[in-house]
Amino acid sequence: MARETPFVPVRVKCPFCEIDSIQRYIKSRMYQPDSVEEDTHVADYKWENPEFAHIRPNFYHIWHCPTCHFCDEKETFRGEDKSGGKLELIKEKLLIHSRMPNSLIARMGSAIDFSQDEYSIESAILAHLLAIHEQELLSPNMRQHPKLARFYLRVAWLYREKTALNPPEKNIPAGFGSLAEFLESFRTEWPDLPAREEPALDTALIRYQDILNYSSGADPKYDINIMNLLIAILRRNNKNAEALKLVRSVFSAATKARQSARAAVQKGVNVSQNQNLLNFAAGAIEKATELSEKLGEIVFNEELPAAREAVMKMGPVDAKTVVDKLRELKFADITCRRLGKMFEKQARR
Ligand SMILES: [Zn+2]
Repeated sequence: MARETPFVPVRVKCPFCEIDSIQRYIKSRMYQPDSVEEDTHVADYKWENPEFAHIRPNFYHIWHCPTCHFCDEKETFRGEDKSGGKLELIKEKLLIHSRMPNSLIARMGSAIDFSQDEYSIESAILAHLLAIHEQELLSPNMRQHPKLARFYLRVAWLYREKTALNPPEKNIPAGFGSLAEFLESFRTEWPDLPAREEPALDTALIRYQDILNYSSGADPKYDINIMNLLIAILRRNNKNAEALKLVRSVFSAATKARQSARAAVQKGVNVSQNQNLLNFAAGAIEKATELSEKLGEIVFNEELPAAREAVMKMGPVDAKTVVDKLRELKFADITCRRLGKMFEKQARR
């Protein structure tokens, strides 16, 4: 009897070079997320067959054409992409680059080895980086921002897993001692190449922020989910004060959504949809309230020494001036208010 495998091989014609290759996906229902981190990274999967417990489904998210090195999600390979002609523009550039043996695309793409039974984390990282690079061949206004944001987040997860699991490195091209060294060799052509988790998260953050900035506000649920994702990323990179500000934004966006959804339910407009939004907003408010308290403490403790020093330098002032000046110095709201109170107490003694 053939050995059981979680993979389904499929022959697919590359949408760019039109040459066939074998790609694979993992059968659905074979695994489930077991523990999920705040930034939606699945830290552990639960497999039906424990023999597959070491397989990381996220390694298989990006497909790679071994001929022209086009890298993208399987939906794009299958022609289900709805980018409205943007793919055609990438195609033109990619086909030129991939034929030049010293181009970034050819060098990085040739190092991807998806011929093995199971993919290495190094090949998975390279495929994600290429997918990012290929999107970025287009001018910023032409790029698919949600996709790009997702790819940056996904490659950050891969770096996190590489650090956590620390497997012996595989598929390192001749002449290089490590994946890090190989990635550094692209620095001149790609100065911002994210070679570690933190810079990948930082860029994911900017991309998701862009999506929010251009949001029409028509789908508050989508916006709040992105804000919560941003909060998780900020906290991971120890930017707690910024995260706290965003928690406030979640609170006000969710409050607004709750009000309008409640009004719609009362008027009998799209009742089930608005009831759903109402429940979602209530959950978001509860979570934001809890997080605001927790983060407030963290931010206050982080800022306290610097804020104290700033107050000492102010000379003779009253409590209100302390608060105003600390605000001017961009301390978090909680730090300003609490120091103002502490100052008042001291002055009364
Ligand atoms: Zn191709």
